[in-house]
Amino acid sequence: MPENLEQIKTFYQEAFQFYNPKFAVPPIKVEFYAYIGINHTIRVRNGAVYVRIAEICRKMPASAQKSLAFILVAKLFRRQVSPKAREIYTNYVKQQPIRETAAENRKTKGRKIITPAQGDAYDLEEIFDCLNRKYFKSSLPKPILGWSARKTYRILGHHDSAHETVVVSRSLDDIKVPKYVVEFVVFHEMLHIFHPTEHRNGRRYNHTAQFRRDERKFAYYKEAESWI
Ligand SMILES: [Zn+2]
Repeated sequence: MPENLEQIKTFYQEAFQFYNPKFAVPPIKVEFYAYIGINHTIRVRNGAVYVRIAEICRKMPASAQKSLAFILVAKLFRRQVSPKAREIYTNYVKQQPIRETAAENRKTKGRKIITPAQGDAYDLEEIFDCLNRKYFKSSLPKPILGWSARKTYRILGHHDSAHETVVVSRSLDDIKVPKYVVEFVVFHEMLHIFHPTEHRNGRRYNHTAQFRRDERKFAYYKEAESWI
């Protein structure tokens, strides 16, 4: 890990000690991530903690990084965020240059959308929000959602993690297609956000066993699979 990430990691260790003093601090991995705008995530998998800080906060001063660490860890334990931490972090984020960068990122990345989320038959934003509530406790950061320009039949959905974009085939934007099919395709791409690609022995694993198990939790899994 680069030096500043090492330092940031110590803030998370401190925050864990603070909010969960009776337990040993778990292994923590911190990285900067090309989220759209100012978005950060913290999640626990197999006893390890994965923190992703929005790329545009790379130059954030240590005091604000530390505050962010305490905010994210407090949220993880569903505890109240200390007003002091919130104030330090918010003051930094409110600064004009940061806001501009966020808007800029949105704009350049927005060009990747081929067509808007609101299609002729279905609204991908609405579907995403609904699935996020139902299956992810609204914890997933919202990617850019859009329909592909052309009707593709073999590839029904695609998740681009570098640009946090989810594209769904225009062939599904049709009232003749059951809603649960569109939902299932979006759900699959959401699982790619939830289970980032695993790298083992130089190989990339996208559809892990856990991914497939979670995929089966979709309420209309059998119906959607057989329709597709
Ligand atoms: Zn996939």
